[in-house]
Parts: sequence; C-alpha cells; structure tokens
Amino acid sequence: MIKSKKRGNLIIISGTTCAGKGTVIKHLLERNKNLYLSISYTSRPKRGSEVEGEDYYFITPEEFQEKINHDEFLEYAQVQYGCFYGTPKKEIEEKLEVGFDVILEIDVEGAKQVKEKFPETILIFIMAPSMEEVKRRIKERKTESAEQIIKRFKRAYQEINEVNKYNYVVVNDVVDEAVRKIEAILISEKCRVDRIEEIRVENEEEIIHEFLIDKDFDNDTKPIV
Ligand code: 5GP
Repeated sequence: MIKSKKRGNLIIISGTTCAGKGTVIKHLLERNKNLYLSISYTSRPKRGSEVEGEDYYFITPEEFQEKINHDEFLEYAQVQYGCFYGTPKKEIEEKLEVGFDVILEIDVEGAKQVKEKFPETILIFIMAPSMEEVKRRIKERKTESAEQIIKRFKRAYQEINEVNKYNYVVVNDVVDEAVRKIEAILISEKCRVDRIEEIRVENEEEIIHEFLIDKDFDNDTKPIV
C-alpha cells in the first residue's frame, strides 16, 4: 500500500574528541549491512595504526587542492593544524542512489556545509558523558603531543556549543546503548511521511465485494451489536 523512496538517507555523525564516534560507527556498520561509511580524504599525516583507504585516503596538500579545483568534494574543511579534510562527492551519490544509508563522520563545519546543500541530511552529535571522561580517554590514547591534546580539548568545548544545529544528540556512556539509540533514530527516519513516494489505497466497494464472495466467509455470522 505504501511505497517509500528507495534512495538512502545521508547521515552525519559528528562528536567531540574522544566521544567514541569511531567505536560506535564500527558497531553500527557490523550490525547494519545497509549502512555505508564514506572514507574522507585528508592532507594530515597518517597516525599510529591508521590504514590507507580504511581510515582515510592520505594525500598531499597539492593533491587536495587539485580535488577542490575539480569540484570532487561534497564538502571540505580545514579542521586542525592547517590540515584539510574532504568528503568525496561521486561515490556517496552512487551509494545513496542504490539505497544505502551513507554515514559521513565529519566535523561541525562540514556538517553545516552539507546541511545547507541537502537540508534532508540527518545530523547526529555524539558526546562523551563528561569532560572529565574526555580528559581520561585522551590521556589513555597517548597518540598526540601535549600541544595537540590541548587544541583538541579546546575544540571540544567549541563544538559542544554547536550541538543545537544537530537533529539528535547521543551520549556515549555505554557503547551498545549509544549504538541502539542511533539505530532507533535511523529506523524512525525511514518511517517519515516525507519519504513516502506513493500511497495506493484499494477501492472500498471492491474490497467489500471481494469479502462477500469469499467462500471462507460465513454469511450467517451475525454482527456483534
Ligand atoms: P582526526 O584527525 O582525529 O581523524 O579527525 C579530526 C576531525 O576531522 C574529526 O572531528 C572528524 O570528524 C573530522 N573529519 C574527518 N573527515 C572529515 C571530512 O571529510 N570533512 C570534514 N569537514 N571533517 C572531517
């Protein structure tokens, strides 16, 4: 009776540093085969155990500029230390078209750019339960210098002020609960009335007629008054 649009949803997941976005997204992808995570391009150097083509496509600033010139990004932003991050346009369009829900794990600035171009984008912000917990997680990670850590921390405070631009906020205290909350958001978004392409309601008289001539129907049944 109801035919919904086949095209997938575009979902942005942002969050403060050490909010656990990566872990939450990993679980979401494992549990939901209809989700696709876009891999961004970045001009920042590779860190620790990061893998080319899995975490990012690592390119030089010149290659990044080239892609900007060729209009290959859906959005891009200078996130930190003069390093650029950008979302490739073409593959996202292809995935959405065949029905995948596409996740972009990008910052607040990128989220603003995408929302302006595509207002139907679903914006989800993931937060750590407290700034104390952020501090603890940053210390534990030990991948960056003290200076970088302080910058990240300051940035986290700035980003929290932007939460009101998002559609949903999810606190990541227990990973599994955060994942289930995001799954619930995605399911409800699929049920939105503006996703309906066509509603076909069968003719009322036809249905009554079919019902009356149905052999299984007991004509002697008295209506309950
Ligand atoms: P990191 O260097 O720690 O991997 O990422 C730093 C920030 O860049 C994170 O907030 C992440 O969400 C953001 N980011 C990653 N890819 C993109 C992208 O393609 N575009 C934008 N605007 N931000 C991104």
